Amino acid sequence: MLVYINGKFVPEEQATVSIFDHGFLYGDGVFEGIRAYNGRVFRLMEHVDRLFDSAKAIDLVPPVTKEEMAEIIKETLRQNNLKNAYIRPLITRGVGSMGLDPHRCEKPTVICAASEWGAMYGDLYEKGLTAVTVCVRRNTPDSLPPNIKSMNYLNNILGKIEANYKGGDEAIFLDRTGKLAEGSGDNIYLVKNGKLYTPPTINNLKGITRHVLLELLDKLGIPYEICELGLFDLYTADEVMVTGTAAEICAITKIDGRIIGDGKPGAVYRKLVPAFQEVTRTEGDA
Ligand code: PLP
Repeated sequence: MLVYINGKFVPEEQATVSIFDHGFLYGDGVFEGIRAYNGRVFRLMEHVDRLFDSAKAIDLVPPVTKEEMAEIIKETLRQNNLKNAYIRPLITRGVGSMGLDPHRCEKPTVICAASEWGAMYGDLYEKGLTAVTVCVRRNTPDSLPPNIKSMNYLNNILGKIEANYKGGDEAIFLDRTGKLAEGSGDNIYLVKNGKLYTPPTINNLKGITRHVLLELLDKLGIPYEICELGLFDLYTADEVMVTGTAAEICAITKIDGRIIGDGKPGAVYRKLVPAFQEVTRTEGDA
């Protein structure tokens, strides 16, 4: 696999960063996760915009323009002859001496890697995921704003570990006040009486797949509301589902031991899946 690193493509064994890179030392950096379908990068500019917004929020000035970043992402796909892939661009604060101060770093590091990617959850797209609400909270007073896609994913990982120990495929995070936030790497939705509900993006990442889903709801004439939700809403929903670049769209059929609806992926999910597949397989930048 060829990896882009600071201006050139090199074989992955040679794609190394210094241990003094503040991305490695402190998690001081931002990233994106992007999908390509049939050789086309899905929602490329939305991802590049979000990457640059994340960088802006941590006061990191990317050493490349948005147009250059978009080209790097597409070139990573081409260089590796990948058709269906997961692409990971990231920008770190760069190499500097020890100490948190970003001024110690002269120039940000830019990396872009990709790998072949299929359906993340295998047969669970048909069965539905089992999820667990976890102790780790999203959007607490001392946590990073959830809309920064930063290189600090340890809270999400802790949630995933907890979910795994409790027999779950995915973790569901609440925020500090107990409101529904999101999954470990995906946004969350519930359906009640034919209407879909999802939390506002104050306590979760403004997902690009979420944006696609809302467009599809409009197109299919499925009513939806963006509003605060709690555990009761989740447990008593007819359907629950998550969306994310890696997970795509997947139903959740069991949460904290409660069977959701009739325990099978529901009617709204079944309508959304083919529509999602159509849009992801027909759009995109080559
Ligand atoms: N929430 C979190 C914490 C994520 O890491 C992701 C993945 O990027 C999402 C939600 C879903 O966002 P997207 O649909 O843009 O991949």
